[in-house]
Amino acid sequence: MKKEDEVLPGDYIAPKEAFLPGFGTYEKKGEVRSCSTGNVKKDMKRRKAKVMCKPQIPKMQRKGLIVEGEVDKVTDSVAFVDLFTARSKSFRYVPRDNSTVLRVRDISDNYTESARDAMRAGDIARFKVVDITGDSVVLGTIGKKLGVIQAYCSKCRHPLKKKNGKLVCPHCKNKEERKIASDYGE
Ligand SMILES: [Zn+2]
Repeated sequence: MKKEDEVLPGDYIAPKEAFLPGFGTYEKKGEVRSCSTGNVKKDMKRRKAKVMCKPQIPKMQRKGLIVEGEVDKVTDSVAFVDLFTARSKSFRYVPRDNSTVLRVRDISDNYTESARDAMRAGDIARFKVVDITGDSVVLGTIGKKLGVIQAYCSKCRHPLKKKNGKLVCPHCKNKEERKIASDYGE
């Protein structure tokens, strides 16, 4: 028997008006649908629906892999990340909630006091898989090509633009700090 929140690829989740298509979902004809097998999770605060699945990482090729994902929440010591399907062929990795982390010491070669200075919830970033411990995946962003590739203003949610190496909101002129990738905004 299928449990109530379990979905298969293509299953209907919610109308677009009620929830934004989040991680593991897509939108078609005004409906949010699942693109994988897993459990639906609805984020009432951000009005976002996502589908969480069990880890399916091939054991041999996981470390060093470059992955992209959306920052879910950030504390001083860690950022939690929802990974997107990796770009390498036939490779799909969809972790469980709060199992994919970026620790503050793995953010940059330069000292980072708080993970909040480098990432914010909703940002899209590129990471390297540095370790897998039990069920959790440890990510890092040390290196020029790694880091945030799209950030959003924490005041008004507009996409931030890179200007002289700094991030500025074109809407409200708010200036923000991130650990950005060298190709940010390209
Ligand atoms: Zn703004």
